[in-house]
Amino acid sequence: MTTAATDSKTSSLYIDGAWTDPDSVETIDVINAATEEVMGQVPAGTAADVDAAVGAANAALGPWSALAPADRAEMCTAIGSRLQDRAEEIAGLVSQELGSPITEAMLIQAGLPAITFTSMEHLYEHLPWEQTLGNSLILREPVGTVGAITPWNYPLHQISAKVAPAMLAGCTVVVKPSEVTPLNSYILAEIIDEIGVPAGVFNLVTGTGPVVGEALASHPGIDLVSFTGSTRAGKRVSELASATVKPVTLELGGKSANVILEDADFEAAVVDGLKKCFINGGQTCSALTRMIVPKSAMPAVEAIAGAAVPEFRVGDPSSPDTVIGPMVSAAHRDRVQAYIRKGVEEGARLVCGGDGAPEGSDRGYFVKPTVFSGVTPGMVIAQEEIFGPVLAIMGYEDEEDAINLANATSYGLAGGVWSGDEERAKRVARRMDTGQVEINGGVFNPLAPFGGRKMSGHGRELGPYGVDDFLTLKSLQL
Ligand code: NAD
Repeated sequence: MTTAATDSKTSSLYIDGAWTDPDSVETIDVINAATEEVMGQVPAGTAADVDAAVGAANAALGPWSALAPADRAEMCTAIGSRLQDRAEEIAGLVSQELGSPITEAMLIQAGLPAITFTSMEHLYEHLPWEQTLGNSLILREPVGTVGAITPWNYPLHQISAKVAPAMLAGCTVVVKPSEVTPLNSYILAEIIDEIGVPAGVFNLVTGTGPVVGEALASHPGIDLVSFTGSTRAGKRVSELASATVKPVTLELGGKSANVILEDADFEAAVVDGLKKCFINGGQTCSALTRMIVPKSAMPAVEAIAGAAVPEFRVGDPSSPDTVIGPMVSAAHRDRVQAYIRKGVEEGARLVCGGDGAPEGSDRGYFVKPTVFSGVTPGMVIAQEEIFGPVLAIMGYEDEEDAINLANATSYGLAGGVWSGDEERAKRVARRMDTGQVEINGGVFNPLAPFGGRKMSGHGRELGPYGVDDFLTLKSLQL
């Protein structure tokens, strides 16, 4: 079941300002993660569809980039406002496609896209579109036509974090949403169509990564690929894009550390740390999946975690009380459970949870929220991104050891530090090799730069820094 508004559209692609028949009759089923039922279909796009979309986007680039930034920002605000109007519908749809609990979906899955589009209005005035340096006039110009490839875990947020700044910058865009959760992207396309964004500025081509994603990454008419997803697919996109020397921005996986120093409030730190690990069922690139605690405090930390986990209610994502819904798909559920078995095999101590479905669940891709303790850096569950509600508690001897442990993975996306002394927490945070760190549970800021280091990728999204990736510099010597 799709929403009434999108039912008639999801058999089409959105190209050059029109609902367009796809090149192929093949479709991709979209599955409801809680019921395991098919809830819709979208076209399996082809390279020919990508060609048509890129052609339209290239043709729209000149007139769109010639508009004043203020005019482009105004369109973004109109989109944000319509997204806000349709927030319940968006949250309901993502909740079904992905399994995201409805209360969280309203806040994040529907709330963030509206904020991101609306924020463009506040940003454009502060961006240095033109600057003078000695005898030079430095211009920031749109990079051109952008290929945006996005994952399933915060589907409309990830699309919006690319489309809104790209539009403000004066770029045109071809979006390839995740084939696992594509239906919500049709709501955005519908809004863009309704408010009269010029044809070709935004194009939507659904399909698989190897077909549509690779066609976009290698297309000579795409000037920049903005990719969010796994490190594996990000590497492939970079390889393909290199043939045409196009820039690529990569927002990839993570294995982020939450360092709890010995002077922290343990009860607050551990409970907040569980929330930051289990958010969106742990299907969050910036989830704080490694809790790094003093070795001497491990029994106390395990006791707090063991008592808190039952409060994370697992169940029907449409229920307002649910905190953890199902995993997105059967394949992903199996992957998460294989990691849980691996942790047990490796000798990590199971504090709660474990393999198998939670009691009473006979359908839907549910897993048990799981906490391991005594995890050591050599274990697979300390190194690989599990992308499910699985926490690894690791012990440190002293502050130096804690920092080394925090930095001892190939990823560097997010992190946390807890301490009774904020200055000390900041000193530790400065030494973490990661793109952002929250201090004592500091809340997510949708204007702060979001992105990673090492295998977590490069490039920054959100706020003014998120627009930079879509601008290129030109200098006029006067
Ligand atoms: P994925 O890499 O499988 O898919 C992401 C997108 O890439 C999808 O649209 C997919 O169709 C496409 N794709 C897959 N193979 C491709 C190829 N060969 N060429 C071009 N495109 C291809 O990732 P996923 O399973 O959808 O999402 C989960 C991953 O995304 C996790 O690793 C997570 O950490 C990461 N992620 C990162 C961020 C971030 O901002 N750093 C945010 C969310 C998710």
